[in-house]
Amino acid sequence: MKAIQELYALITEPRKVVITTHQKPDADAMGSSLALSQFLVQFGHQVTVISPTNWAGWLNWMPDVNKVVDFELNREKAATILNEADWLFCLDFNIFHRAKNLAPLLASASCTKILIDHHQEPDSVNFDYGISDIGKSSTCEMIYDFIVGSGNSDKITIPMTECLYAGVMADTGSFRFPSAHASVHTMVAALKEKGLKHTKVHEHIYDNFLETRMRFIGHVLLNRMDVSYEYNTALISISKKDLLRYQIRTGDTEGLVNYPLSIQGIKLAALVIDRDEERKWSFRSKGDFDVNTFARKHFEGGGHFNAAGGRSSDSLENTVQEFIKVIKEYASQLQ
Ligand code: 5GP
Ligand code: MN
Repeated sequence: MKAIQELYALITEPRKVVITTHQKPDADAMGSSLALSQFLVQFGHQVTVISPTNWAGWLNWMPDVNKVVDFELNREKAATILNEADWLFCLDFNIFHRAKNLAPLLASASCTKILIDHHQEPDSVNFDYGISDIGKSSTCEMIYDFIVGSGNSDKITIPMTECLYAGVMADTGSFRFPSAHASVHTMVAALKEKGLKHTKVHEHIYDNFLETRMRFIGHVLLNRMDVSYEYNTALISISKKDLLRYQIRTGDTEGLVNYPLSIQGIKLAALVIDRDEERKWSFRSKGDFDVNTFARKHFEGGGHFNAAGGRSSDSLENTVQEFIKVIKEYASQLQ
């Protein structure tokens, strides 16, 4: 994989560009994709953002989100666009299988592939250019660096500031995680100077749910959370019945896994949801418990040191039992 800086000289020549990201894109995935798209079109590139799946309704305020192609709804169109592309940007994920059913098409595409991501263990051999930096707060920060690094900060528009801010805000837990380095605050200051209205972005993302989602959270915290002080761990498991009862939609469970970390002493929070196709795990930790390694080892997953995800094909009950069993091995690390 050649350094991303080698692309700087090439961006002025118009090309057909596809930008894609991980399945069920979050604010960082969607925000970085849309900001990069809005940047590249200014050079005359023909840009399409393809999402492997649908996304949460609370992203629908993002500028240009209505132009994003949902691969699951438009397979042929997406395949044709990908086939004709000169460049493929992969943002906020670093291995093709995170793009779910789109993955085989990404792997077989013959165009130039470019990685911009901040997760652990990138599959670098499958990319021609790129940057993978786990020290970065978010892919949005990396897109900002790309724009500024290529000498084009004058091309940052107000819609781009909103997309970039949304991603960095979400991935840093509203600037509270250790990843909110000085560079993050410097970037936000620059976005503010360009006219960013940050309160609007915050409200779009965090104050935009239905009442049922709030009731669901009440139900889950009351009835579906087990706390084990022996392992300083909290586990939330959510059944299909719970999802149906509260009409839970894509994105409604985002952030739920963080709640137990506000309990004194809790170092590990785990959330498992019985989705149609798999049991989806989310892990969050405080301090030096490495959930990336934990998720990789036990739940076919990965992510970051303090925030990771995983999956299981087993039943909800069995995967919960598996968690309860394996956590015993970590008793000393969780003290
Ligand atoms: P979340 O719990 O919010 O779904 O994910 C937390 C972090 O772990 C995110 O950065 C996400 O991209 C990553 N992640 C989530 N699920 C998986 C997975 O199954 N495999 C890998 N490698 N990373 C994941
Ligand atoms: Mn991210």
